[in-house]
This record gives sequence, C-alpha cells and structure tokens, in this order.
Amino acid sequence: MDKIILITGGSRGIGKATALKAAAQGYAVCINYRSNKKAAEQVVNEIVAAGGKAISIAADVAREKEVITLFNIIDEKLGRITALVNNAGILEKQGLVVDTNADRLQRIFAANVIGTFTCAREAVKRMGLQYGGAGGAIVNVSSKAAAHGAPFEYVDYAASKGAVDTFTLGLSKEVAGDGIRVNAVRPGIIDTEIHITGGEPGRVARIGPSLPMKRGGTAEEVANTILWLLSDEASYVTGALVDVAGGR
Ligand code: NAP
Repeated sequence: MDKIILITGGSRGIGKATALKAAAQGYAVCINYRSNKKAAEQVVNEIVAAGGKAISIAADVAREKEVITLFNIIDEKLGRITALVNNAGILEKQGLVVDTNADRLQRIFAANVIGTFTCAREAVKRMGLQYGGAGGAIVNVSSKAAAHGAPFEYVDYAASKGAVDTFTLGLSKEVAGDGIRVNAVRPGIIDTEIHITGGEPGRVARIGPSLPMKRGGTAEEVANTILWLLSDEASYVTGALVDVAGGR
C-alpha cells in the first residue's frame, strides 16, 4: 500500500522535520501551510531533490472550507491519505489571563482545536474501513503545556492543547474499530520559531537549563516520536499522549 501523509503546518519547525523524515521513510508527503509559500516550497524541493515525492498546499486549518478543499486536492494529486499529522498550531504574545480577550481566544481555539477536529474528520472519512479506506494513523501535536497550564505565559494556548488531548482520547476509541490509531505527542520546550511569535525568541535558552535534561529539545526529536507513532512499530498503541519534553 502506498503511504500518503498530510502534515499540517509542514513548512517550518516540527512539521518540517516530520515532513523530511516521512519522505525519507517512503511517504508521499503533502506539506500544508498557511501563508509562507517560500518555506513550504523549500521543503518540497528538498524532498524531491532527495528522490522523494511531495506537494505543498496553502490552507488555513482554522477555516473549515479550506480544510475540505485541502483534502479534495490531496485526493486528486496523491490519493487517499494513510497518515495525518495535525501539527499546525499557534500561540500569541505571552500574557496574563486577566488581559485576554475573546478575539484572541477565537483565533487560538480555531487553529489549534477546530483545525485539529476538522482535519481529523476528513482523514477518518478517507482512512476508515467503513468508508472503503485501508485504515491509517493520526498523530495530534499537543503540548506539555496542557498538563501544567502555562501560567503567566499562555494559559489560553495550554487550554487549547488540553482540548487536543481530550479529543485524542475520544477519537481514538471511536475509530479503533475502523482501523485507525490516534495518538498525540506533547512536546516541551522545542527550538523553533514559535517562540518568536510568543514574544520571547530566547525562551529555549532561558528555560532549557532548568529542565531535568538541562536543555530544550529539537524539532527532529519530536519528529522521531511522531514517525514512530505512525509506524507499524506502534501497531498496538492508540489513545496515548506521549511526552517529548526532556523529563519536564
Ligand atoms: P512554528 O515553527 O511556528 O511553525 C508553525 C507551522 O504551522 C508553520 O508551517 C505555519 O505555516 C503553520 N501554521 C500556523 N497556523 C496555521 C494555520 N492556521 N493553518 C495552516 N498552517 C498553519 O511552530 P512549531 O514550534 O513547529 O509548532 C508546531 C506544533 O507544535 C504546534 O501545534 C505547536 O503548538 C506545537 N508545540 C510546539 C512547541 C515548541 O516549543 N516549539 C512545544 C509544544 C507544542 P506558515 O509559516 O505559512 O504560517
């Protein structure tokens, strides 16, 4: 069976590392991104230059119509997906709950929670045995913040990842009989550009030394765990929330 994977937010950071590793393992890869076309094309070019197969598609996962179009294009260009990594996610400037407003909450929950739900729904319709699919695997990229709440930084973001954890548990049970495994990774402090968006580019250097393993993690270390969860090596693993957080 051909292995076909969609990685949302696959153009940078953890998504990019996952895309490169997936291609090296023989997946045809769809790299979704929101706005940075150049970054997405660079990942596609890198995969193709190494002999792999990849396409990139712009779609905002927070918008249901764009998600539906994204999956329809993948059907046409690559075929039915067998793996989904719900990686696209955002946070906003560090701050206190007392300063949070509903517009900010709408943006964060739309991308992190509704995007994860709708992409998973479309994937299930293509992977599920009852829909004529061959089964498959989904990995949701949550955050260790779901467990500790990210006080004084981003409680809203942490709460959205708590929803991703609960969604992972529920969906895994709904679709286990349909040949689909659903798991989540919960990265800790990982060295990517997301911390610039949060307003603290040096966050990994600040917090890393205080962690049990005395350092932040790399996008590749998270990607390794994602690829393992997607693989047959993890054939009896579903509904798991796997911390990739250096012992935090
Ligand atoms: P990143 O470096 O900021 O990259 C984010 C990626 O997501 C980009 O490809 C971006 O595309 C895409 N994206 C953002 N919003 C999107 C949307 N609405 N629709 C489609 N694509 C969208 O982030 P990262 O650090 O790799 O994080 C990836 C995931 O890991 C996120 O879910 C994040 O919450 C989670 N995580 C990260 C850390 C960490 O320390 N880095 C820790 C825990 C969890 P454009 O460039 O086109 O906008």
